[in-house]
Amino acid sequence: MTRALALLFLIVIISCDKGVEQSQEETSAVVAPIQEPELHYGIDLNFYKAQENKIERGDTFGKILEKNGIDYPQVYKILQAIKEKVSVRKLTLGKPYSLFYSKDSIITPEYFIYHPGVSRYTVIHLRDSLYGNEIIKPSRLVELEASGIIESSLYETMQNIGINESLTYYLSDVYAWTVDFFRLQKGDRFKIIYTEKFVDDSISIGIDRIKASYFEHKGKSLYAFEFISDPEKGIVDYFDNEANSLRRAFLQGPLKFNRVSSRYNLKRRIAYYDNRIRPHKGTDFSAGVGTPILATANGTVVKSRYTKGNGNYVTIKHNGTYSTQYLHMKKRKVKVGEFVEQGEIIGWVGMTGNTSGPHVCYRFWKNGRQVDPFKQKLPEAKPISSDLKTKFANHIIPYKTKLDCIAFESELKSEIAVTNNQSKNAKDPS
Ligand SMILES: [Zn+2]
Repeated sequence: MTRALALLFLIVIISCDKGVEQSQEETSAVVAPIQEPELHYGIDLNFYKAQENKIERGDTFGKILEKNGIDYPQVYKILQAIKEKVSVRKLTLGKPYSLFYSKDSIITPEYFIYHPGVSRYTVIHLRDSLYGNEIIKPSRLVELEASGIIESSLYETMQNIGINESLTYYLSDVYAWTVDFFRLQKGDRFKIIYTEKFVDDSISIGIDRIKASYFEHKGKSLYAFEFISDPEKGIVDYFDNEANSLRRAFLQGPLKFNRVSSRYNLKRRIAYYDNRIRPHKGTDFSAGVGTPILATANGTVVKSRYTKGNGNYVTIKHNGTYSTQYLHMKKRKVKVGEFVEQGEIIGWVGMTGNTSGPHVCYRFWKNGRQVDPFKQKLPEAKPISSDLKTKFANHIIPYKTKLDCIAFESELKSEIAVTNNQSKNAKDPS
């Protein structure tokens, strides 16, 4: 399957110059048609002038109108007329409201507009046919792209680029199981294709979701594509370009073929130690010297060293909850600080340290406590079912192409530099 997907990608590698069309989706959107009149809250400014205000302490709907020349009997009539449709009993301090005055000679306002949030407002007609309406502005879902290179934190990077910072939470959620966001490295880079909701074309009312992303952590590429993995239950999850779930469970053990020779056992007795209880908090997997040892989940190497008891060993921190350790290696392959992927070779089976035969002692920590990995309810990582794999492969093609075409700022700069050089050369008389 992996090979088939890889082949698909090869075919799909197309030039980014062709430009990937920016698609825009619309939700409940009834986009206001472009009209000649100059509309403000649906009122034509050709015939009305607007006076913008803010709710002040002590302001009520009645007081505001009375201040503006509408007497109490009329206020009462208005309130009676609108009470079924809108309420202006609670006006929030500091929120904007507008009064619209007809440009003819009448000096009292004709409309009262209360505007407590960006996406909705209340219109009240104060004369003749009295009415009130609550208007919910049409929102548009816009697909956007972003990319960045991390200097300090992801949040700060997003702020510096000027994109919606709440995207940080969405992105760290996508990679929660793959990348430890507290240990990002300067130079880690990301690209995101996401949707954001807007009203009035430019006012954001929030991120909708991430559709696809790319995260380069310590030089490793991690793709994520949103996909409905269970159409019946409507389960949406993120998968990498090989259809693996990003919420990966751990491998059963650190070897390709795992043969447990000694389990986690707190009451183990060992003849060597006079039959005293020597708890074994690891799980031993036996294999011939030189057998590759694999990282059981993605993570960062936090220890890679030799001690008398453990021999050559490696510790990997997977996220805030889990860490694993691999002992008695003949040789270590990874360094502290390195990011390793699940299944990646981190060393080879040996007999270093305190051991009587070639094996790897595998230790597993949850929240700082050493536990039996076989008794843990580890996060689920349901792969995409085989009947959906083709659908998935087709689904991600346009997204992967788009992601690959998003340039990082530094790349853009060098591209401009190249263009400048070329134009200089072109002017050369030679
Ligand atoms: Zn052991």
